[in-house]
Amino acid sequence: MAQYHSTRALAPTYTAKQAIRRGIAADGGLFVSDELGDTAIDIETLADKDYFELAREVLGALLPDYTADEIAACVEEAYRGTFASDEVTPLVPLKQAPGADGVPAYVLELFGGPTSAFKDVALQMLPRLMARTGTGETADEKIMIVTATSGDTGKAALAGFADAPGCGITVFYPEGKVSRVQELQMSTQEGVNVAVCGVRGNFDDAQSAVKRIFADTELAKRLADAGVVLSSANSINVGRLVPQVVYYFAAYAQLLRAGAIQAGDAVEFCVPTGNFGDILAGYYARRMGLPVSRLVVASDKNNVLFDFLTTGTYDRERPFFTTTSPSMDILISSNLERLLYFASDGDCELVSSLMASLSESGSYTVPADVLARIQEVFGCGWADEDQVAAAIKSCWDANGYVIDPHTACGYHVLQELPAAPNTAARVLLSTASPYKFPRAVAGALGLFCPPDDFACMKVLEKATGTTAPAQLANLQGKPVLHTDVVDIDGMSAYVERAAKSL
Ligand SMILES: *Cc1c(COP(=O)(O)O)cnc(C)c1O
Repeated sequence: MAQYHSTRALAPTYTAKQAIRRGIAADGGLFVSDELGDTAIDIETLADKDYFELAREVLGALLPDYTADEIAACVEEAYRGTFASDEVTPLVPLKQAPGADGVPAYVLELFGGPTSAFKDVALQMLPRLMARTGTGETADEKIMIVTATSGDTGKAALAGFADAPGCGITVFYPEGKVSRVQELQMSTQEGVNVAVCGVRGNFDDAQSAVKRIFADTELAKRLADAGVVLSSANSINVGRLVPQVVYYFAAYAQLLRAGAIQAGDAVEFCVPTGNFGDILAGYYARRMGLPVSRLVVASDKNNVLFDFLTTGTYDRERPFFTTTSPSMDILISSNLERLLYFASDGDCELVSSLMASLSESGSYTVPADVLARIQEVFGCGWADEDQVAAAIKSCWDANGYVIDPHTACGYHVLQELPAAPNTAARVLLSTASPYKFPRAVAGALGLFCPPDDFACMKVLEKATGTTAPAQLANLQGKPVLHTDVVDIDGMSAYVERAAKSL
């Protein structure tokens, strides 16, 4: 059962539980399993299965050392009653095909969870999986999750880990540099085990400080004496990747039930991408037997993945743009390392040398055969800021459907790029509620935006006849529980205090 190992070395090996508890391999690589694809999910019977059954099946296949009872309990705790729809990730048809080729398109709404962004799907599950990793000598050890956030991850991680048994969570955000809605989402977070702290500095400063905290062996020793180990809720954790595989199957099941496709028909998925986690889950689903014609990477103006997928050279030495889709403003797509591993048939030496090149010179180029294998499965496109706004407007005009700026990058790419050959339906993954970004969305629709984000939500509600998710609209009246602010130098001591009080 110990089948996970680093992308950079075949040994040592770990069980799925160990991989989830550790987060990242000691050599800096990401945990992968060579058994990916050995268990196929039966397509013929997909239509009969609801989200919960699919989740049990997919998680059971990819995390074999969890018992069926453990998996079933995790799935219930994570998804029963926590999402707006019983489907968990409902599929909505678009009235008009976005592309000139007329292939019908659907939106897979991933934002029905407690924080209105797709990260909830994984971060509602990760704490349940994490809580069941303690065995033998680690049974009494507590885990302190430490995360720096530019906005969305922090709140989703807080919502997932609040009051989770055996765990605490500390979130740092750059003070004054997240949206008003995002700051309130975090500063009003309840839970006995949560700490939220502003940092005087920017996101990169906070992120670098968190990495130093993880690498601080003296601190680790002091915490171990206190019975606490630090861990990360970063999207490279196996426990975040695996839950995302489920909704690709759930989308297909809903297409079957709607009579939109027949079992075996190929579907194309278009995915707004930053760290490459969401779309990599689609690649996992394809390896597990889902008929996928193509996976389309949709980027914003930070189009490092578009350049990589078209040329084979990944170059992070480029200007960084702050956009209306902040969760995709990323220059290092960490999860891509897993794709390089699989596309090179498990060539750890190659992956190690590419990653060494990335950290030493800021770029790498993959061999032509590896690029060709990636291009067989992945398409790509990107949208600049004007195109994002235009996509929000044209999606609304054509379909009466409001999308957020991240999803709009994908909608733009669907408009530009013809569907892959033999595609029966296209599915656009929608990663956030438009009400998380009311100013950008209202602006794109040509509406008057008052200075206050909550007033902006009201304008959007009135103009579109949609309703803001209660958990966002209600933030206005919630008591602020967290007001701590520290300098970058104070972060380590802050974590130590929080960890020792677990
Ligand atoms: C995190 C995020 C993304 C990007 O997801 P990756 O897994 O990093 O590719 C896209 N949209 C939203 C709203 C997000 O929060």
